[in-house]
Amino acid sequence: MAFKLGKRSLKELEGVHADLVAVVNRAIEITPQDFSVHDGIRTLEEQKKLVKSGASKTLRSRHISGHAVDLVPYINGKLRWEWEPIYQIAEAVRTAAQELEVPIRWGGAWDTLLTSTDEATEDVISGYVERRRSEGKKAFIDGPHYELPRSEYPENT
Ligand SMILES: [Zn+2]
Repeated sequence: MAFKLGKRSLKELEGVHADLVAVVNRAIEITPQDFSVHDGIRTLEEQKKLVKSGASKTLRSRHISGHAVDLVPYINGKLRWEWEPIYQIAEAVRTAAQELEVPIRWGGAWDTLLTSTDEATEDVISGYVERRRSEGKKAFIDGPHYELPRSEYPENT
């Protein structure tokens, strides 16, 4: 089973950092679950709207600098924000990124790198939710979101 990125997905990848594009290109080859690149580059205006609507928490989004993508399950011709397929895509992204030795931070667990764990992606999320809870904080989960960590990819690289 091999999927291909559609035209829209390719368009969304324009301007995104080459290392992240390489990971997405590899992930689509190995994923058991088809996906679309829903969001690559964003303008500050678009980001402001998302923060206002509650869909995002920060104006310092990595989407603005080309260091993030949203990969949404594509099922029967539709984008679907559903957990089971999101977990499968996250597995494929992790495998692809580990192969290419590109570190990836996932919206399912912001406080760690997806690429430095081998836990099932479902457990990576529940671990994150647990850690936040023990600190008395809410967990903001964004399952389709993947980014290059700021520590290794500052804004201007
Ligand atoms: Zn995102």
